[in-house]
Amino acid sequence: MKIICIGRNYADHAAELKSETPREPIVFLKPDSALLPRKQAFVIPEFSNDVHHEVELLVRINRLGKYIQPKFAHKYYNQISLGIDFTARDLQQDLKAKGLPWEKAKSFDGAAVVGDQWLSVTDFKDLNQIEFSLLKNDKIVQEGNSSQMLWKIDELIAYISQFFTLKIGDIIFTGTPAGVGQVQPDDHLIAKIGDTTLINLNIK
Ligand code: ZN
Repeated sequence: MKIICIGRNYADHAAELKSETPREPIVFLKPDSALLPRKQAFVIPEFSNDVHHEVELLVRINRLGKYIQPKFAHKYYNQISLGIDFTARDLQQDLKAKGLPWEKAKSFDGAAVVGDQWLSVTDFKDLNQIEFSLLKNDKIVQEGNSSQMLWKIDELIAYISQFFTLKIGDIIFTGTPAGVGQVQPDDHLIAKIGDTTLINLNIK
């Protein structure tokens, strides 16, 4: 499987990074080795002094597809969860400044956290009105709603599938809302859709 991530899909997050709002989706990949094994703590890697949390809505692909039209995109996924796109911000800024790829800052071991359970799309009245949040040490640090996404789920699937064949089990990280910030050893993160806790994670 592969993990496909979208950058700057919320205008308020692009603004907090002092980045331009993109004209088309920004796409990058994480390898399967970036998946944090279930029930494990996230260990801050030695090569960074500024690892940030980015809570994101996840979509799981359940059908093989290429050149998917937006109007058919809903047939290619049936599960939603939350994830954390951990980012070594110091390394990313350095790579960006040099015009180099971001992978070392975004795709290291453990940098992709996937929720403990997947929710069926049929559990939601409207996929473009999903509220989610991230708590750090019991304080809300990020709040988002899928209505704020610059590109909605179906548009992302159509866009991505022009470049990459989507396969069963692939996961899309749909971008983070504002409020990203540093994690420190002994922090505790909880990510929720509404009142449902999907991630409960210790930082080491
Ligand atoms: Zn992200």
